[in-house]
Amino acid sequence: MQLQPTASHFIDGAYVEDTEGAPIDIIYPATGQVIGRVHAATPAIVDRALASAEAAQRDWARRTGRERGRILTRAAAIIRERNHELSVLETHDTGKPLQETLAVDATSAADALEYFGGLAASLTGEHIALGEDWVYTVREPLGVCVGIGAWNYPTQIAAWKGAPALACGNAMVFKPSETTPICALKLAEILVEAGLPKGVYNVVQGMGEVGAALVGDPRVAKVSLTGSVPTGRKVYAAAAAQMKHVTMELGGKSPLIIFDDADLDNAVGGAINGNFYSSGQVCSNGTRVFVQKGIKEAFLARLAERLGDAVIGDPLDEATSFGPMVSAAQMNIVLGYVDKGKAEGARLICGGQRLARDGFYVAPTVFADVSDDMTIAREEIFGPVMSVLDFEDEAEAVARANATEFGLSAGVFTRDLSRAHRVIGQMQAGSCFINSYNDAPVEAPFGGVKASGVGRENSKEAIQHYSQVKSVYVRMGDVEAPF
Ligand code: NDP
Repeated sequence: MQLQPTASHFIDGAYVEDTEGAPIDIIYPATGQVIGRVHAATPAIVDRALASAEAAQRDWARRTGRERGRILTRAAAIIRERNHELSVLETHDTGKPLQETLAVDATSAADALEYFGGLAASLTGEHIALGEDWVYTVREPLGVCVGIGAWNYPTQIAAWKGAPALACGNAMVFKPSETTPICALKLAEILVEAGLPKGVYNVVQGMGEVGAALVGDPRVAKVSLTGSVPTGRKVYAAAAAQMKHVTMELGGKSPLIIFDDADLDNAVGGAINGNFYSSGQVCSNGTRVFVQKGIKEAFLARLAERLGDAVIGDPLDEATSFGPMVSAAQMNIVLGYVDKGKAEGARLICGGQRLARDGFYVAPTVFADVSDDMTIAREEIFGPVMSVLDFEDEAEAVARANATEFGLSAGVFTRDLSRAHRVIGQMQAGSCFINSYNDAPVEAPFGGVKASGVGRENSKEAIQHYSQVKSVYVRMGDVEAPF
């Protein structure tokens, strides 16, 4: 399989190279080997991508929603046909096991293209009767949108931003994370194969400076970022300077509250999904696991037992269920947090070290007896490190769960459904779960409150963030004026 992309960028319907840009090595996280290279976009490449998007957007917006939707759904069908090939690419880009990428990456991109492709024809305005007069509203695209991605879900992020943007009649310039440059290029290629006019979806590579150049360009109407809170603050401020629309999908330190009466195996399963999927590199992870005292030791014992069943190994082997971190840099960040957990007195239940093999593997790690003030309970680690905290009663759990600057997700496990709804009702979080964790179907809004972000991706909500409403007052009679 060809891992080296045809060229670094995809602009105006074709691959484009410019070796003047700084080289970015593509490293396979399972081995640490360089498997390809792209070049960061130069100012000339950024300009070309934005000019192409601006020129293409007007015609794209004039097409009917049905025509736009048909192209998006055709792209979804191509993605499904090529799921295996695209999943192998995603595994090389991120190191995530094929067992995962086959199930959630290209397929969730296809879900988004199908969903927003299906909605495109139904984006209508309103008619508001005012006696003889009336107002009608029109839902219009914003123009050129910029998408900036994190490295954990390169295909999904490119599609979660691109699909609603394009369905609404916008054009997009997408910048993947420099750590995972491969997958968004494939999405751009497939969209064109499905009939997308050239220039409507472009991909440029680069580090933060390229993202900043895109955000600061006056041709750009909207910026959607998936990334960390510090980057979100910078990008939000830069967008605000030119009064641009934003969607910010940022980090989290989400609580997962497990009550004594929970089904133990389901609670352990939820905690595993919410901490170790994608080696813990998921923004919505429930990394502060509050376990009620009566069930705590049974929970820890069952958790350690089930973590023993993790198959850690070659991500391309479909039996592997736990892979490496995305990069050496991320691995070192995670190991630094593990050291802090040990130094600050948390009880290490399992893991806690780098694995002795090639690649960037950190063992699934669980700390118990974690207190709210420990670094591992306060900061986003973005790796396979679960903190278990214990609590006595519901009010205490709710107060401590909310005592964070973040507000992306929250989950509760209990057999008492009244309590489940009461607790979730009090959670300061955007994406919540009852007796489950980390499900993210395209039909459900996704996004955070507080420092975890603004706006929502997916669902009908995303349409509000990629379009704006024009209202038109229509007078049937004469105009009355004071003079
Ligand atoms: P970063 O915030 O480091 O980077 C995100 C993206 O922004 C990258 O493409 C980066 O470029 C780019 N960037 C960096 N600086 C700027 C700038 N000044 N202007 C414009 N763009 C810039 O995040 P990571 O890539 O390390 O991803 C991990 C973070 O993403 C975690 O905090 C995680 O919680 C969050 N995340 C949130 C999700 C959500 O939906 N809420 C989902 C997934 C992740 P480059 O890195 O190439 O230099």
